[in-house]
Amino acid sequence: MTAIEDAVPSAATGAALIDGKAFAEALRGQVAQGAEQFARSTGQPPGLAVVLVGDDPASQVYVRTKMKTAADTGIRSFPHLWPGSTSQSALLELIRQLNEDPQVHGILVQLPLPAHLDEAQVIAAISPAKDVDGFHPINVGRLSQGTATLIPCTPLGCLLLLKDRLGDLSGLKAVVVGRSNIVGKPMANLLLQANCTVTILHSRSRNLEDECRQADILVLAVGAPRKFGAGYIKPGATVIDVGINRIVSEDGKSRLVGDADTDAVSAIAGAVTPVPGGVGPMTVACLLKNTLTAASAAEGLAFD
Ligand code: NDP
Repeated sequence: MTAIEDAVPSAATGAALIDGKAFAEALRGQVAQGAEQFARSTGQPPGLAVVLVGDDPASQVYVRTKMKTAADTGIRSFPHLWPGSTSQSALLELIRQLNEDPQVHGILVQLPLPAHLDEAQVIAAISPAKDVDGFHPINVGRLSQGTATLIPCTPLGCLLLLKDRLGDLSGLKAVVVGRSNIVGKPMANLLLQANCTVTILHSRSRNLEDECRQADILVLAVGAPRKFGAGYIKPGATVIDVGINRIVSEDGKSRLVGDADTDAVSAIAGAVTPVPGGVGPMTVACLLKNTLTAASAAEGLAFD
């Protein structure tokens, strides 16, 4: 399973497109094998509780995708699709029950929650051992200490693609644009642990273009459609485009684009992840990987 084997030259130039879709499929295959072994040993499949509050259309799509992919991988989902009027206390009570349910090994609360709910309190209520998103403060602390087993899914997916493409990342200059708790900060932490020299950029950073042009590894996690063009890229750099932005094209059709202007970047970069088909599929595959990790740890098994 290697993205480098699957990497194909981009149409515009010689830069390779890193095929996250193929890599994710192979990773899901490994997780499916582990899930099957887990079920044989314990008499039950790994279980993932999926909690969605409200009717945000994008969240509904994400949740459906995650549950379908889980089922295809031999992981049992427990959906809890609750109305937008759900109270904080009711949600906390649900989390308490899920924490105690032996059939549930992982708990995913789809974010964002409706504005009247306290997201931080909900995340902190999830048992760290079942926190398959890796957002609980204890897991965040473990990540920064380099001892985490449940690592936020999107950065973990990016790291797997980078290691597959580049091997040892030691000494490489990595620039992460974006400092969210979900992507930017954990990504920077993972790259630091992989012995990169890491710079984090954000909306107040100066000389963004010059800073990005120093990067052997450039991770874009901003949410700015096609903002990053050729001027931001060091020749031969590996560009991981996390951004998912919906735009309306000139032909009036709606489509997804990343933070990179992929064609322009491909003229300079060594490799780039496409959008869609790059980081997105890795996020879902890593959620399932984390669920198997949590389930295996709960049973004292090693099917990770
Ligand atoms: P956030 O909005 O939480 O964070 C965006 C970050 O970008 C912030 O740190 C912000 O800086 C920074 N930023 C904004 N504008 C600029 C700018 N002009 N120059 C430099 N930095 C800037 O987003 P997320 O981290 O949640 O997501 C980022 C993108 O990744 C989105 O497009 C999202 O849809 C996508 N995403 C994709 C996933 C996948 O599976 N592929 C999963 C999760 C997210 P500041 O902190 O100063 O405000």
